[in-house]
Amino acid sequence: MKRILITLTFLSGFWASAQNNTSYWQQQVDYTMEVDMNVDNYQYTGTQELVYTNNSPDTLNRVFYHLFFNAFQPGSEMDVRSRTIADPDSRVGDRISKLSETEQGFLKINSLTQNGTTLTYKEVGTVLEVALENPILPGEKTTFNMEFTGQVPVQIRRSGRNSSEGVALSMTQWYPKIAEYDFEGWHADPYLGREFHGVWGDFDVKISIDKSYIMGATGYLQNPQEIGYGYEEAGTKVNRPGGKKLTWHFIAPMVHDFAWAADPEYIHDKRTAADGTVLHFLYKNNPDIKENWKNLQPKTEALLLYFNEHIGEYPWDQYSVIQGGDGGMEYAMLTLITGERTFGSLVGVTAHELAHAWFQHLLANNESKHEWMDEGFTSYISNLAMNEVMEEGKENPLEGTYRGYTRLATSGIEQPQSTHSDRYAVNAAYGTSAYSKGAIFLSQLGYVIGQENLQKTINRYYEEWKFKHPTPNDFIRIAEKVSGAELDWYLTDWTQTTNTIDYSIKEVAEGENETTTVTFERIGLMPMPVDLKVVYKDGTEELVYIPLRMMRWQKPAQNTTKRIVADDWAWAYPTYTLKLNKPKAEISKIIIDDSQMMADINRENNVFEQE
Ligand SMILES: [Zn+2]
Repeated sequence: MKRILITLTFLSGFWASAQNNTSYWQQQVDYTMEVDMNVDNYQYTGTQELVYTNNSPDTLNRVFYHLFFNAFQPGSEMDVRSRTIADPDSRVGDRISKLSETEQGFLKINSLTQNGTTLTYKEVGTVLEVALENPILPGEKTTFNMEFTGQVPVQIRRSGRNSSEGVALSMTQWYPKIAEYDFEGWHADPYLGREFHGVWGDFDVKISIDKSYIMGATGYLQNPQEIGYGYEEAGTKVNRPGGKKLTWHFIAPMVHDFAWAADPEYIHDKRTAADGTVLHFLYKNNPDIKENWKNLQPKTEALLLYFNEHIGEYPWDQYSVIQGGDGGMEYAMLTLITGERTFGSLVGVTAHELAHAWFQHLLANNESKHEWMDEGFTSYISNLAMNEVMEEGKENPLEGTYRGYTRLATSGIEQPQSTHSDRYAVNAAYGTSAYSKGAIFLSQLGYVIGQENLQKTINRYYEEWKFKHPTPNDFIRIAEKVSGAELDWYLTDWTQTTNTIDYSIKEVAEGENETTTVTFERIGLMPMPVDLKVVYKDGTEELVYIPLRMMRWQKPAQNTTKRIVADDWAWAYPTYTLKLNKPKAEISKIIIDDSQMMADINRENNVFEQE
């Protein structure tokens, strides 16, 4: 039932927003793959038919494929980058440089044709460059057929064999994957270790593997009665064909990646969530982790329902939480996470990766260029979800996030968020910028336009951009349309510069006729509207809102406390004077941003207090 609805909502959503974005287009890929896995030497062979639809207005003379597994070879860009960056990821370090030939990864193309014509191509590191015999004209479809051979590397980063927790196969970034071509052209980024951008399409994948292996994958299993292992209809008999291998057949509609994992010792549990989504859990039969993995199941459902409500309905029928990988990583309709964790950490990583089903998969921004959009938005929503689902009772679930950002902003190593994810000087700057500063982008937007407008913005962003590739501007335009405020300054300063926010109370002076004059100073370069709380000695409080002139707008009152809307503050003026209609002696405290949702890098000068 849900699956039928997906197609309809997808189409109606697409056309509705096509009216708002008349120039928007996206490429379409339809993959059919048959893969044969050898679990003795970790090599696999495959065929791939790729029907490529060029929806762009451009004629394409060449195409590119990602060959991610080639990164796991001594001397690869990923290896050298990891050995030359000042603070390498401890999972990688110099491990790639030490891989023997049988431990390395590779992905080799054995043949490639376009509509039956043989093509010439060149493997350049992790990218296959293909010259086309026949250019693909705008609106045209073409069919590529390929044969490939791969070797699964020893588990180092995201994918690989025999992880430290004993998972046999974490199969991510494992097949020749055509690069995205969008309004900015080709995105044939080499694989240096982080972030992706993929083409939307349908996947039909058959994987033959030793009969003893239990698998979890992107997509719906088409032959559960031949497979069993808990995929069969409850109480029915499984009819496995003869032979040493089983062929698992999956179909995944409208995704931009396909991942799987397999192990002979997986336990497979299923749980149908209240919204109809079937949750699959695959984890090692290890007595130390079993209880956590059982208790994780109702929490995963609660998280799913939280995201349904606060972002938009999860559109696929299935989601799998699978033990594998090297930490946690999001994929289409599934996540691979390490499983030997405390319960809180297990739920936390699941919350983060599940949130990526929206902010990465469904709302598929280019992660390489705008890593803060998926990592930051995911961090924001999963922090709020954890607070509720785990009953953490935090007043501000992002408190630590703000502290982390402030440390970065005052460290001297910060680079603008518009930096390509591979090009940060140090990993630490990337991490805090993408995750913490990205989360604050949303949280602080709630301060700028109000909580209700923020919630409406997120919901409308989902409605207009699901199954597409939104850009930062697409998001902020929705926030503008929802709220009515001008917000281009917010996007520009926060994401394209390292400008910081620092407002201060410079002076509180006795005014004429029993009034008080408060002088504020804008010390940081980034503009902001100012929320002020004034507490009087008689215990009464009032709020003062100083609008930012360039927003051409006023935030609605956020609660029932008496609020005064003062004159607006134009950014170029470094100081601003406010008159309070009470004598200075009656004031107990004045606070800039009592909510602490504005990322002011020096909060010490935000408060005036007197006995
Ligand atoms: Zn993430």
